[in-house]
Amino acid sequence: MNFSELGLSPALTDSITRANYENPYPIQVEAIPAILQQRDLLGLAPTGSGKTAAYILPILQRLLAKDAPRERYVPVLVIVPTRELAMQVAEVTENFSRFLPRKIKSMAVFGGVSINPQMMRLHGVELLIATPGRLIDLVGRRAVGVSRIHTLVLDEADKVLNMGFREELEHILELLPAKRQNILFSATMDEEVEKLTQNLLHDPVSIRV
Ligand code: AMP
Repeated sequence: MNFSELGLSPALTDSITRANYENPYPIQVEAIPAILQQRDLLGLAPTGSGKTAAYILPILQRLLAKDAPRERYVPVLVIVPTRELAMQVAEVTENFSRFLPRKIKSMAVFGGVSINPQMMRLHGVELLIATPGRLIDLVGRRAVGVSRIHTLVLDEADKVLNMGFREELEHILELLPAKRQNILFSATMDEEVEKLTQNLLHDPVSIRV
């Protein structure tokens, strides 16, 4: 199995080759076609499984098919529990994005650092990677608009909930348009995550690695 057989375009497979990935990992084989078909997805997968590329690649393909957004309405939101994961996801995104015919503008935002430099860089961002608290802050200051998001990723959902971000998460979800694609990854499944998947995901494809 290679990446082009999963439905990724030459622009994407070229950038994958340049990023030195040879063959897709199992989670990528299952997740990429489902995400390209704009299905909701539940992935039970730990760090190290290749989950980041599994969702970033098909999302980049969808973004590439359209012009960059104007103003401050971000089309894709990735919610993560920690600054470390935010930076990691941004790095993976950048790694593929820099070889694409059009550079997809991505950015990681998280708390613990001053908000002003982040606010100034948000214009035209297509893929926003955010921790919940800082995202709410930025939305409150009208630095970013989330009402046109077509794809939501919740990465390490178990950790987002364990870190006490449930209320923030629910607040964010209320701001999003109802019609959107939802992708949820979690390393573990417990009652809380289960409840969240039931609220968030519609007829999802389920993957466990
Ligand atoms: P993740 O689980 O997303 O944190 O990815 C774990 C590691 O695997 C990262 O260092 C990725 O760069 C790497 N990786 C993911 N998919 C592939 C692949 N298909 N081929 C080679 N390396 C990969």
